[in-house]
Amino acid sequence: MRITKKIFNDLAIYMVGLGVLIGVIFPFFCIILGVPKEIALTPVYFTACILAGIILGALNIFLAKKTVGSRIRQLSQKMKYVESILVNKKKGISEEKCTPDRCSIMVDSEDEFGESAESFNTLINTLSEVMETQAEIQLFSEMLTSYLELDILSRETLIHLIKNTKADGGAVLIEKNGGLVVEAIDSIKDAAALENNIRVLNTMRTLERQLIKFPGDIILDGVVVEFHPKELLIEPIVYKNILLGVLILVSASSFSGNSIDKLSFFSQSLSLAFRNAVTHNQMQKLAALDALTGLYNRRFGILRVKEEFSRAIRGNTPISLLMFDIDHFKSVNDTYGHIVGDNVLVSIAKIALASIREGDVLMRYGGEEFLCVLPGANKADASIIAERIRIMVMDSAVKNAEQDIKITISIGVATYPRNDISDSSQLIKLADDAMYAAKETGRNRTVSY
Ligand code: GH3
Ligand code: MG
Ligand code: MG
Repeated sequence: MRITKKIFNDLAIYMVGLGVLIGVIFPFFCIILGVPKEIALTPVYFTACILAGIILGALNIFLAKKTVGSRIRQLSQKMKYVESILVNKKKGISEEKCTPDRCSIMVDSEDEFGESAESFNTLINTLSEVMETQAEIQLFSEMLTSYLELDILSRETLIHLIKNTKADGGAVLIEKNGGLVVEAIDSIKDAAALENNIRVLNTMRTLERQLIKFPGDIILDGVVVEFHPKELLIEPIVYKNILLGVLILVSASSFSGNSIDKLSFFSQSLSLAFRNAVTHNQMQKLAALDALTGLYNRRFGILRVKEEFSRAIRGNTPISLLMFDIDHFKSVNDTYGHIVGDNVLVSIAKIALASIREGDVLMRYGGEEFLCVLPGANKADASIIAERIRIMVMDSAVKNAEQDIKITISIGVATYPRNDISDSSQLIKLADDAMYAAKETGRNRTVSY
């Protein structure tokens, strides 16, 4: 039953009341124990007993306050402290964290107080874990929204996830034409083998996460890592049931449930970010590519020439350009029609593309003019490549009904370094001039400037 608004005041009233009651009853009890009535029933004796009862009651309440009250005060102080941290965090005033040493209560008894303290500490631990995860999710989401380029996004995602799941390495593979291509890698040695790893391909098919435990020294194709792997996590990056890529994490120990939970947490924003990056990538390509041949268009191609030219100057390496134009193309169009003419253009693009190396750049420079950038190629190299393309075009044929259409091209070659050249447009002009020289001297030939 409550008397006042304060529990310790109630307790004091009860204790002192009990003391008074005992003080009143005590003289009669003394008579039973043999104290003469003349002494026990005097006002002085009564007063002394009541006073003793009151003092005992007061002492009780003092001790209770001292032992119980201090514990409760400690609990309330910690609660207030945690609250202030949360409020500051909410307002963005401070990023202070609730570490166990700051927010926990010492458990020094095995009773209800000990239990309460333990429950409080568990609560604080869970709370700080939740806050930490939330901070990680926020950081991760911020990162995801700040990159649109697939390669950078893949690399940053990998760095974040390795850190957040306490993995020791990993890779991000991106879907390309029905296969997977490694876009980012960390601490895994054989990237190429990963692309064809049966487990990885399996994830690609099922779109389901796989957790593979390595028994002993088993080695999985591609997962040749710089440490001894214990677990491998393969997570598909899926947007609306379409596979965009696969994320691989390798750990030298076991992944905790918390790590795997985090991955699930992240997966939605991850797939959205990758979807955006893939779309961005496609748009970039669309803007950079010629629709008919799939080669770089002139606008984008010229940027690439500039880049490669600057790189050649910086690296003090040669660079060559091949400019080529179809001979008498107008008559091909006039004789067979524009669609056949278009097929000829596609066929030549394919032949030229097959004749150059990976770092070389081929673009459709104009209607039936192509420009090829050969970084590192000197005059002799460039002539060899030009002749290879010219001869392959000459030997090929574009099928039209029952007829094979034979075509030839004229090629102009220009090579840097030269004294009279300081920028890429001058080099393009030289290649163009050389090509016109090839036309003028009979076509179907290569002329080096
Ligand atoms: P040459 O270069 O040997 O001097 O003679 P040519 O007949 O090729 O002359 P020119 O370079 O002037 O002709 C260009 C022709 O290319 C004219 C144009 O109809 C054709 N052409 C340009 N772009 C396309 C295209 O996208 N598709 C088709 N089918 N034809 C194109
Ligand atoms: Mg032309
Ligand atoms: Mg022509």
